[in-house]
Amino acid sequence: MQVGFLGLGQMGAPIAMNLVRAGHHVTVWNRSPEKAGPLVALGATAAKTPKDAAAGKEVVMTMLADDAALETVLSGAEGLLAGLPAGALHLSMSTIGVATSERVAALHAERGQRYVAAPVFGRPEAAAAAKLFVVAAGAPADLETAAPIFAAIGQRVFTVSNTPAAANLVKLCGNFMILSAIEAMAEAFALAQKGGVAKAKLLEVLTGSLFDAPIYRNYGAILVEERFRPAGFTAPLGLKDMRLVGQAAEAQRVAMPLLSLLRDHLLETLAKEGEDIDWSGIGRTVARNAGL
Ligand code: NAP
Repeated sequence: MQVGFLGLGQMGAPIAMNLVRAGHHVTVWNRSPEKAGPLVALGATAAKTPKDAAAGKEVVMTMLADDAALETVLSGAEGLLAGLPAGALHLSMSTIGVATSERVAALHAERGQRYVAAPVFGRPEAAAAAKLFVVAAGAPADLETAAPIFAAIGQRVFTVSNTPAAANLVKLCGNFMILSAIEAMAEAFALAQKGGVAKAKLLEVLTGSLFDAPIYRNYGAILVEERFRPAGFTAPLGLKDMRLVGQAAEAQRVAMPLLSLLRDHLLETLAKEGEDIDWSGIGRTVARNAGL
């Protein structure tokens, strides 16, 4: 398949590599052009603008930091919207807000272009191993077009709705629950540690009994080992996601008191630790607040 790929960050680069390895013809673009180097070495083509990366393609994928980055890349004379042929598909994998996804869907519809939202669960290691969980929403025919792409990058696809923004809402709900689990574990670890039980022992008991889920095993190990740098998912991106959860919650009139706590702990962590810490670094804030 002729694929354009925009955004070669921690997630985008390994995803694009897996597409090249699966035999797709991939044209990449990144704001900082040097990040295209390893992809070109693998057989991808580098484009100078989002428009060039989209021109003549069947599918263009975006894996960008946030809503503002996506809107920048879409718009203008050199943007994705200007290059994507009518009938071609934009596969949007970034974690973006519900309202933005609805706006992007309308922009594509006006131009006769197709749009699927397909945010993913899994950190950069999962992206490299083609083990992502893809949460997809869009018209059935568009999801069918995207199927070979999903097969090359993930271990399972969940189709949630014909309406693309529904996938973004599911992704935001998931990230809210991940950070809630990190916060809960961090508080329990602090209590255990101060009471004389090693964090690793508590994790062994919990994941070996009632909490045998990837989120507890993987983030539990990160918390036990205090592996907060280099970040797999940075605290600023986590803060962005909590903001997007809050916007969706406001729109739907859903009170989420836990969300406010998580947001404050992320802010406190950023203030004390700087921008380069993993979002699970809230565990350090929780430990410090416990006097550890
Ligand atoms: P990242 O490493 O920070 O990469 C961000 C990408 O966005 C880079 O390609 C960056 O370009 C580009 N970008 C940022 N601002 C831009 C702008 N104004 N215009 C054009 N391009 C811009 O982030 P990531 O970890 O790959 O995350 C990408 C997306 O996946 C985010 O929405 C994130 O929430 C989501 N996600 C992340 C994870 C994870 O564990 N990391 C897991 C699931 C989903 P430059 O290279 O020029 O900076």
